[in-house]
Amino acid sequence: MFHRAATPALLAGLLLAAGSSVAASSQASLTSSGIKGCDALIAAGLESQLIFPTDATTYEDRVSSWWSASSRLRPWCIVQPRNTDEVSSAVKALSEAGAGSFAVRSGGHSHWAGGSNIQNGVTIDLGLMNATTYDPATGVVSLQPAPRWGDVFETLEGYGVAVSGGRDANVGVGGFLVGGGNSYYSGRHGFGCDGVVNAEVVLADGSVVSANSSTNRKLWKALKGGIGNFGIVTRFDMQAFPAGPLWGGSRASAKSYTSEVAQAVVNFTDGYENNPEAAFLINFTYQPTISSEVVIAQVLVDTDGVENPPAFAEIQEIPELFNDIKVRTMSGIASDYVLPSGYYNAWFTLTMKNDVRVVEKAAELNEQLVSDLLEVMSSDDLVTQCLFQPLPKFFADIGVEKGGNVLGMDEVEGNSLLWLLTITGTTPEHEAVIHTKGAAMKAALDEYAESIDAKVPLLYVNYADPSQDPLKSYGTRNLRFMEKVAAKYDPDGLFQRRVPGSFRLSRVE
Ligand SMILES: Cc1cc2nc3c(=O)[nH]c(=O)nc-3n(C[C@H](O)[C@H](O)[C@H](O)COP(=O)(O)OP(=O)(O)OC[C@H]3O[C@@H](n4cnc5c(N)ncnc54)[C@H](O)[C@@H]3O)c2cc1C
Repeated sequence: MFHRAATPALLAGLLLAAGSSVAASSQASLTSSGIKGCDALIAAGLESQLIFPTDATTYEDRVSSWWSASSRLRPWCIVQPRNTDEVSSAVKALSEAGAGSFAVRSGGHSHWAGGSNIQNGVTIDLGLMNATTYDPATGVVSLQPAPRWGDVFETLEGYGVAVSGGRDANVGVGGFLVGGGNSYYSGRHGFGCDGVVNAEVVLADGSVVSANSSTNRKLWKALKGGIGNFGIVTRFDMQAFPAGPLWGGSRASAKSYTSEVAQAVVNFTDGYENNPEAAFLINFTYQPTISSEVVIAQVLVDTDGVENPPAFAEIQEIPELFNDIKVRTMSGIASDYVLPSGYYNAWFTLTMKNDVRVVEKAAELNEQLVSDLLEVMSSDDLVTQCLFQPLPKFFADIGVEKGGNVLGMDEVEGNSLLWLLTITGTTPEHEAVIHTKGAAMKAALDEYAESIDAKVPLLYVNYADPSQDPLKSYGTRNLRFMEKVAAKYDPDGLFQRRVPGSFRLSRVE
């Protein structure tokens, strides 16, 4: 994705103080904050792990650590468990408090308000649980929920292995994996969630269970895409695979090459199964520090480290404005393409058939979108990305082979393209405008796709706007499956009723 400053590295792929009435701070002697949920956590012995708005700098720093300005809500208190037992105590205490809403956060990269934070409630912030441990004897890496992918890759590089992790070094493990997880390694190893061989989960009653192919198998499957509807995952065990330096980075072409680039991504997607070591995405982006016009960035990766492989011959024939593709480590490429934090965001997603017409239509609508936004926003305040990523049928097959997930990709016929629109602004007023305009563009593209029979109903939860309904898009079979799993593991519906943010099964229309 693109960054605001004008370096090639920025041309990558992707991505009233609520507690003012709280009188006391988290001092050792604190017994009451005046807020039911926070008091329940104090009574559970977690007072040393609580942060209140009155803990001025600590609280403000933590609120600012959410990636998107849109997500920087102000909870009554933030609890930071240090281990699974403390997560369990926190869930039990909040459950027994009987009322009051809460949110769950790992890396805090949810782009929208309420995705992993809450106003007038409690946020369970797993940020202190950030260990990565690799066992060379089993090839399994154990990840607590909140390391950043850059750190995970760096640790694993010491052993010559990797997992299907995020492409931006700062994205957190927890949200990425419970929402799916599209990776440079997806062609060989599937989405990140498909590499999870075991999960340790804190359920609504505070009990801790394992979920894997032989124990709590249905829960294990539902966790892979079910985005926190069943419990809080406190450890992900992932099967690692051998990996060395990769060849990759970004290049960009002028927008006059839209048809050629569109054809190249469609051809790549149709031939992807023959080049599963590769990863490719294209991005019609407005980035004023780089160009006053929309350009088409392309991210090319060969995870085997082969330079200029045949899979990219077609795209590399298209003239380029710049190119920073080189051999580097996975942690290196993830760190080189970090999307800056602190901006207001609107994201929308669709899935469409692998058809050159939808790419060309999106490019046309994107031109209009940028021009409309520049009527009401200064060019310094605006960055847009209109991305297409291959979503070939064989990604779904890998998921099925590895025990299944609930993302619904296996219900789709043929090869698809995953579309993501991201727009950033610098003020809350911008957020309202970019959301309205982005929603209109999404609707127009969706309508066009439907008109040419290229619509695929799937919505990728990690990219979805709260107005979209990704869980429903997984299909009736997966929806009913998730509802049964939720009813079994959370019979009183704690995660449905008391965690109002994120995407909840109880709100599926
Ligand atoms: C800059 C950027 C780059 C990105 N790149 C990619 C990419 O390459 N591929 C891709 O697929 N996606 C990508 N994404 C999307 C990303 O996967 C999601 O934003 C994801 O939710 C981030 O995980 P997190 O832990 O940081 O999020 P958080 O905001 O902490 O959590 C997101 C959601 O997951 C839930 N959750 C978090 N941890 C747990 C847990 N332990 N147990 C249960 N529920 C939990 C939260 O409650 C919330 O609903 C990117 C996003 C950004 C902003």
